[in-house]
Amino acid sequence: MGWASLRRTAYLVFFLPLILIGSAYPSKSASALAAWALEREGVLQLRTSVNTPLKASFQSSDSVKGIRVWIDFPGELTRPRTLLGSGPVREIRLGKPKRGVTRLVIEFKKSVYLDPSKLKLIGISPDRWKLKFLGLPLRGLSRIGEGDLTAFSSRDRDWVKAKPLISGQTSFNSSGLPWVPRGRFRVVIDPGHGGPDSGAVGIGGIRETDVVLDISLEVAKFLEAKGVIVNLTRTSEVDLGLFPRVAIANRAGADAFVSIHANATRNRRRDVNGIETFYFSGFRGLSLSKHIQKQVLKVSPGSPDRGVRRARFFVIRRTRMPAALVETGFVTGRLDAPRLAKASHRRELAFAIAKGILNYLQGLS
Ligand SMILES: [Zn+2]
Repeated sequence: MGWASLRRTAYLVFFLPLILIGSAYPSKSASALAAWALEREGVLQLRTSVNTPLKASFQSSDSVKGIRVWIDFPGELTRPRTLLGSGPVREIRLGKPKRGVTRLVIEFKKSVYLDPSKLKLIGISPDRWKLKFLGLPLRGLSRIGEGDLTAFSSRDRDWVKAKPLISGQTSFNSSGLPWVPRGRFRVVIDPGHGGPDSGAVGIGGIRETDVVLDISLEVAKFLEAKGVIVNLTRTSEVDLGLFPRVAIANRAGADAFVSIHANATRNRRRDVNGIETFYFSGFRGLSLSKHIQKQVLKVSPGSPDRGVRRARFFVIRRTRMPAALVETGFVTGRLDAPRLAKASHRRELAFAIAKGILNYLQGLS
């Protein structure tokens, strides 16, 4: 359906201090959207190719869906996808509504009301845009975005490309990890699931339990190489309940507890990918989670940053030390699954998690 013809569709106001060249662009060219982020303050930031004409639209909620705001960019993206939102945002979709067009849709939860007359998409430089969702309830909203908003835009359309891994990081050994005093710290690593509980099962039958056990054993090796005392809650495919995991950590009096998981969508949607880390309480739990999230993102180019969020998972709620639960990617995701199936990527993830933990511990000593 054509959005211009919808009666309930109101156009967002444009403030364009720049001369926009609306020249014809080849329909097969790559998307002019280079990077985007919806910030926790309810501001959508965009980076596009230089002098890109944009179209923004608003649609009120109906009996099925909440308010949708979308922006069309010239050029096509290669990988239409949907990212789950947080707080007032239900989901964000990047799609190809027709040939030669990229559409970024923000769908809000049904309970959210926004006044379209207060929404303005503002061009702030030849390649930067801002849209503040005035009146948006911000509770629970975490930053979500893709690509580098701070990079320089070329005149060519440069869709968020998967960044190649930095060379020199290809051989992951413990000498590249931060230093902490030997024997000072104790960390509990908790590979999620195990035994009859396979956790999520994804593309090609890849099982969460196998993925996370392998990563966890590697994390333990990296940490031990730096003189950290490590307790693993399990080292093989055994059935281990949540109580014993917490008991192991609390008995050990660890400085940090890190539970390692891989994610899945219930309806096995391949377009949902990304990295997220959860904490339950405390500044230290949050700090540990942020350090881990940052490093895991670095070795997962192109996988969306789903953010650091608060959650009530048993193992991070009942452990008495700073605790984090990291989701290392989606076994059901088109981008994440083939990577998680690779031993080399699992080793990169292990290195990243170890680095995050060590950075956190460094801040304590
Ligand atoms: Zn899990």
